[in-house]
Amino acid sequence: MPTVVGLFLASLGLMGCTRDPGPPGVLLVTIDTWRADHMGHATHIAQLPGRTFTDAWTPIGLTTPAHATLLTGRTPPQHGLRANNHHGYALPAAEVTVAERFADAGYATAAFVSAWPAGPDGGMDQGFQVFDGPESGERATSIAVDGATRWLEGREGDWFLWVHAYDPHGPYTPLDGTAGDDRTRYAAEIAQADRLLKPLIDDAMARGSTIVITSDHGEVLDEERCGVQHERSSSEHVLRVPMILVGPGIEAGTNDRRVGLDDVMPTLLHRAGLEDPRDDLLTVEREVWVGESGLCDPECAIGCAPDGVLGKDRIVYGPESTWLDRPGRKPKGDAALAPHLADWPPPVAATGATHVEQATALGYMAPPDPE
Ligand SMILES: [Zn+2]
Repeated sequence: MPTVVGLFLASLGLMGCTRDPGPPGVLLVTIDTWRADHMGHATHIAQLPGRTFTDAWTPIGLTTPAHATLLTGRTPPQHGLRANNHHGYALPAAEVTVAERFADAGYATAAFVSAWPAGPDGGMDQGFQVFDGPESGERATSIAVDGATRWLEGREGDWFLWVHAYDPHGPYTPLDGTAGDDRTRYAAEIAQADRLLKPLIDDAMARGSTIVITSDHGEVLDEERCGVQHERSSSEHVLRVPMILVGPGIEAGTNDRRVGLDDVMPTLLHRAGLEDPRDDLLTVEREVWVGESGLCDPECAIGCAPDGVLGKDRIVYGPESTWLDRPGRKPKGDAALAPHLADWPPPVAATGATHVEQATALGYMAPPDPE
């Protein structure tokens, strides 16, 4: 039997349904360390009525440079970030970010991130009028979601919002206490991010927003040497990412063409009616993807320089074959793909300061003390 309180709550719910949700806006969501073959563990996101890209790639298995590619549409050799901010890399002011483009077009721009490598020290705040993130380490996704939700509430005028969740990044400690091996707890953290982001994504859907949800990189679980990690590998476990585009006029289904994080910025701009001469997720024709490992580690690979950044792997993924250039070893694979590395030179040392405490706090191999 309905109670007075129940009827009152029901009427509030009806009011919620009929309230003008405001301008549609543009939402970018990144779930850190979410690998492509684990898309299905984000059950809500995987079932959104959008275009799922089954062959989507990141150029590098590190948070700062991968997000720099996402936010600029440019590769690590182009934007210059070849490792995380704690290795001294930061986005040059001359780079143009998608947030700057939206801000220039009169959009309100905001970002709510959950880890220090996605923060201002690496230049990820460039173009955001509001940028909210932890000053070190990581923080709970719920904090970023709450901040983003408050920012969106009652917002008038055009808006662009980036929300970053860090749950699937190691160590895997799901809030619901899920125990078990690395795979089980990793999957639970993806499900957790999906659960926490759901209300925000649903709100953006109800507004008719353009939404891109993806990851900065994947994760090696138990398939390769050197254990659970993403920073020391250039394999498909790390460089392939989930990606989905949702919005008015976007047909639900899968798209098997090869796309990358660098296609996201043109997509968001084109969807908003803003110019970008580059192809977007729906138009790009690409057969080859080039990427690199985040770091090298003497335990995993030979030819590493002492700072852990120089001497990394560079790899070309063709339609059927690969070409791997690993310093200190003979390159191997399909030599016909080698010319694709011509525009992808080995990194030069960063000019900024390194931050050993920040690196170790996040579980990364700390750069050794300078000699
Ligand atoms: Zn990351």
